[in-house]
Amino acid sequence: MTYDVAIIGAGVIGSALFRELGKYRLSTALIEKENDVALGCSRANSAIVHAGYDPPTGTLMARFNVEGNRMYPQLCAELSVPFRQNGSLIVALTDDELPQLQRLYENGIRNGVEGLEVVDADAVRLLEPNLKESIRGALVAPTGGIVGSYEFTTALAENGVVNGGKVLLNSEVVKIDKLDKDGVLLEDKKRDGYFRITFKNGSSVDARFIVNAAGIYSDVVQQFIGKKRFSVKPRKGEYYILDKRQGNLVDRTIFMCPSKLGKGVLISPTVHGNLLVGPDAQDGDDKEDFSTTKQGLDFVRNMSKLLSDKVDFGDAIRNFAGLRSLPDGKDFIIERDPDVAGLVNLAGIKSPGLTSAPAIALYAVQLLADCGLELNDNPDFNPNREEIRFSSLSDEEKLELVAKNPLYGRVICRCEEVTEGEIVDAIRRPLGARTLDAVKRRCRPGSGRCQGGFCGPRVLEILSRELGVERESIQKDKDGSYILLGNTKESRN
Ligand SMILES: Cc1cc2nc3c(=O)[nH]c(=O)nc-3n(C[C@H](O)[C@H](O)[C@H](O)COP(=O)(O)OP(=O)(O)OC[C@H]3O[C@@H](n4cnc5c(N)ncnc54)[C@H](O)[C@@H]3O)c2cc1C
Repeated sequence: MTYDVAIIGAGVIGSALFRELGKYRLSTALIEKENDVALGCSRANSAIVHAGYDPPTGTLMARFNVEGNRMYPQLCAELSVPFRQNGSLIVALTDDELPQLQRLYENGIRNGVEGLEVVDADAVRLLEPNLKESIRGALVAPTGGIVGSYEFTTALAENGVVNGGKVLLNSEVVKIDKLDKDGVLLEDKKRDGYFRITFKNGSSVDARFIVNAAGIYSDVVQQFIGKKRFSVKPRKGEYYILDKRQGNLVDRTIFMCPSKLGKGVLISPTVHGNLLVGPDAQDGDDKEDFSTTKQGLDFVRNMSKLLSDKVDFGDAIRNFAGLRSLPDGKDFIIERDPDVAGLVNLAGIKSPGLTSAPAIALYAVQLLADCGLELNDNPDFNPNREEIRFSSLSDEEKLELVAKNPLYGRVICRCEEVTEGEIVDAIRRPLGARTLDAVKRRCRPGSGRCQGGFCGPRVLEILSRELGVERESIQKDKDGSYILLGNTKESRN
């Protein structure tokens, strides 16, 4: 079949567009090289819904940051995604930084950010008593928020499936051709025709329009079909996640004044009640290097001490690294490709890409319409997605649920109080989990203090039972990450 639209890349950008296209009568494919959505940039980031005071006025980043921020509360409510508008505080560490607060304030006002206020050192101490006494003042941005970033991406993609879209996982695009209506290869890509998208395993799908949302590989994907227009480089950032004992150290997200390397090291509560500290910023060339390093983590720890000396890193439960997609220009690349009719690039979407995603998706629909895509409303569009989080229910609700389904009475992950009912649901839902980490990203077993030491084997049993496959074929994360090793080769082949 020929899809109307093929989106390459199931990060937050591709998934937000996929969901948006569900509002129309279209056939849409969301194509992803990995075995789940949200395994690129959208898995490992600070998960902050930025207010929008820092992107330079007039840029796409400024516009979509502020528009996207405004869309989050409703979108997360519709999709049952954890979100809290906890506000942000950008602090001046020295008197020299105080004028920068004023500049950020003015920039934010120009960008349309609401509620900004510059406050003095005494006010900072009242707002956040655990910050360093030496902090000189702050910009308060009450519209800043925190979100479950991979829950958000997964929920967007799942809602797209419910509304008729198709997700093609394990489908790495390696070649794109443009053909005319008779199936003859077109040299001139500006001419009308359709695309043939070929995957690493040799199979292919056809589509009338393509959206390149391949994140850090968006430069590679663009060059499969177009003339080189941009390049995207990785910039790594490393983090600490701390136990929930540290989760109330600050209420807002605490930022330093931004520098040319980005927003600096932050301290923030997470939507799940942990404390997040990081990231650093290391430029490199390896688009797959998610390793953490002593040097990076030492830097994060030392920098965080400028904000607060009360973070107890003895409570660290996990480190991770994310890779920013840095385009060679200064802004997001959001365009109809001038050399390829029917190709839209949503490329080099660095921070604040998570925040901007819902607004970029709206704009991308418009770009597709400008390319010639007909938009007829889908009267059956369902914006909502429901999900039970057992730990957040009242005692009465818990009892009622367990009476209806005893699987909710069996706690599998003690740290996060995740029940078997939630794990089974995560597997059986549309776009269900197929690996241990996919379950973890959907309902959190293994995200707590023991990091899966106790619940991991039980989640593996449940996955094996629900999917009707041998335990040996269950993977932890990306393809190849088998957990049970031994005489298992035959069973995998
Ligand atoms: C350290 C860090 C901190 C950040 N903090 C924030 C923050 O707090 N707030 C904020 O708003 N933004 C933040 N960001 C930015 C935000 O995470 C990104 O802008 C956003 O996730 C980009 O999403 P994406 O969909 O463009 O890319 P991705 O999530 O990387 O998605 C691209 C997808 O394309 C797939 N793909 C690539 N090549 C192919 C191919 N050939 N075939 C098929 N699939 C392919 C990849 O596997 C991937 O899943 C941060 C980023 C980092 C790294």
